Amino acid sequence: MLIRKLFKFENAHIVRNCTSDRCKRSIHGHSYKIELLLKANKLDHGQMVYDFGLLKGVIKDLFDSFDHAICFWNQDSADYTKACQKFSARWISLPVSPSAEQFSRIFFFLAQQVLHSTQTQNGEGDVEVYSVIVHETETGYAQSFVEDIENLQMGELSLDSIVFSEQIQSEWSNPQMYEYLKEGKMFQNPSVELQVKL
Ligand SMILES: [Zn+2]
Repeated sequence: MLIRKLFKFENAHIVRNCTSDRCKRSIHGHSYKIELLLKANKLDHGQMVYDFGLLKGVIKDLFDSFDHAICFWNQDSADYTKACQKFSARWISLPVSPSAEQFSRIFFFLAQQVLHSTQTQNGEGDVEVYSVIVHETETGYAQSFVEDIENLQMGELSLDSIVFSEQIQSEWSNPQMYEYLKEGKMFQNPSVELQVKL
């Protein structure tokens, strides 16, 4: 069984080394739509894969970090990355280029890390990220699956190599949440009082 949750944000980037001249040499923005698809072979006590309300916590905050932010590849020229950090309060440094393909891997990876660090409390089953689809424009999207996340040819992803600016961190419900995630601390979903006896 699959469920899908849609997230939206505006983000700016340059995609180095691509063929399109406008994309590789000029800062520009897109209105992104992110589809997060979760799967499970068992339903929780509410007979759901995963309550959508639970996606309004850490995952929502992490995805919303990208809104009105500039993303850059940490291998880009120091002049450029320093300018991004100087002139934009909201910036994210990435270990890979901010293409739609890599965004789909980054969002898959982040959501997967959060799910693995979340203690569920309502009888949820083996909830996993199934896929992430990143719509960069009305007509084009990139979609990643679990095998793409660990594919080193596509670039190695780690929590340490994704860096959020101080401004972004200060806007999180819990400004420490990314540190907690890196330290392997568990997030706890709220407990649920059952209304119907199972
Ligand atoms: Zn672009």
